[in-house]
Amino acid sequence: MNFDNASLGTKCVQAGYRPGNGEPRQIPIVQSTTFKYDTSEDMGKLFDLEASGYFYTRLQNPTNDYVAAKIAALEGGSAAMLTSSGQAANFFALFNICEAGSHIVASSSIYGGTFNLISVTMKKMGIDVTFVSPDSTDEELDAAFKENTRAMFGETIANPALTVLDIEKFANAAHRHGVPLIVDNTFPTPVNCRPIEWGADIVTHSTTKYMDGHGAAVGGAIVDSGKFDWMAHADKFPGLCTPDDSYHGITYAEKFGKEGAFITKCTAQLMRDFGCIQSPQHAFILNLGLESLHVRMPKHVENGQAVAEFLQGHEKVVKVNYSGLPTDPYYKTAQKYLPNGGCGVVSFELAGGRSAAEKFMKNLKLAAIETHVADARTCCLNPATSTHRQMTDEQLEAAGIPAGLVRMSCGLEDKNDLIADLKQALDQI
Ligand SMILES: *Cc1c(COP(=O)(O)O)cnc(C)c1O
Repeated sequence: MNFDNASLGTKCVQAGYRPGNGEPRQIPIVQSTTFKYDTSEDMGKLFDLEASGYFYTRLQNPTNDYVAAKIAALEGGSAAMLTSSGQAANFFALFNICEAGSHIVASSSIYGGTFNLISVTMKKMGIDVTFVSPDSTDEELDAAFKENTRAMFGETIANPALTVLDIEKFANAAHRHGVPLIVDNTFPTPVNCRPIEWGADIVTHSTTKYMDGHGAAVGGAIVDSGKFDWMAHADKFPGLCTPDDSYHGITYAEKFGKEGAFITKCTAQLMRDFGCIQSPQHAFILNLGLESLHVRMPKHVENGQAVAEFLQGHEKVVKVNYSGLPTDPYYKTAQKYLPNGGCGVVSFELAGGRSAAEKFMKNLKLAAIETHVADARTCCLNPATSTHRQMTDEQLEAAGIPAGLVRMSCGLEDKNDLIADLKQALDQI
């Protein structure tokens, strides 16, 4: 069966791996570091990228490739690969087209780990960045690009700010300047948004979150839309458009075309040299999560919406951030890009600041205190007393993270139980 016309739910369950007659129904875990060949000539063809096949699990493994193919089908991409974490996925996606002397335009509303990766670690590699507000006008976006800009980056729903990216606007800006838009689609997952349909060129994921969905396996994924014309901007992307001396003079964009160049280069060069591969065991666990992604996401959204609506009406809550609320500044953008809802993560500010947040969280019975988000069990975090505890109340306010802010990731429990838990904890403040 060709999955091109299958619905998303069917792809979640069955895309990527099609067993032949008498083969295992479930994806086999190929627990082998290496692969056997009859002749040196056979193996040489693999090293020359003349034949496709496996030789060493640091670069590629069949289990990973089955799961990556499913994620590519879900996002509507031409090719995909798994990485050891979401951090590795975003680093690879950027570093595959950037080098010392390059420049990135990134939304300022992104995950803290990615912000640090780009603004500190990649800076040490000689890669510069300009951060732009997700609410920028076209003119403000245009002004951020430079002659050496090689990529634009944003998150569909930002973790933890919960801003919603105007993907079309960002994609148009990137394309006006001849570079691809990379979108981290971790929070909505392809069930709720497929950025490629709105012009994104590369999509990344921390599969650690909803895709796995059970808090069981750290992982990441990169999906290529196959639509960006590297050769039309060959001067900007010599790594894809000129011969790779470390790979027998292959020119990726020529040999593998628009559809295959990005992921092939990323595998052949970056996986070879950095080795941030996902283990086949983790890929297997990830696939178990993907099989129910289309069933779980609507429930996360239902719970997030119910919790946001309850909190909005409560006298001890100053403010609720959730793009499914008509009062949220991102409601209109969310209606366009996330018509079926975004995700189960809600954030809210308690009257009474830091001490109220501490007291509230201590009294929760169902929701656990965790730095994690986006799995089956509801969890919450007060940045002021955990991830951002080195900052003063004034610094927190300036960073848009008030001391009384709580981030709550609504899991798959019954929404009435979640609300009852919140209510009793709020009553005790
Ligand atoms: C968690 C997260 C990451 C980092 O992923 P890891 O799997 O923890 O490395 C990147 N982007 C977003 C949006 C995230 O939520």
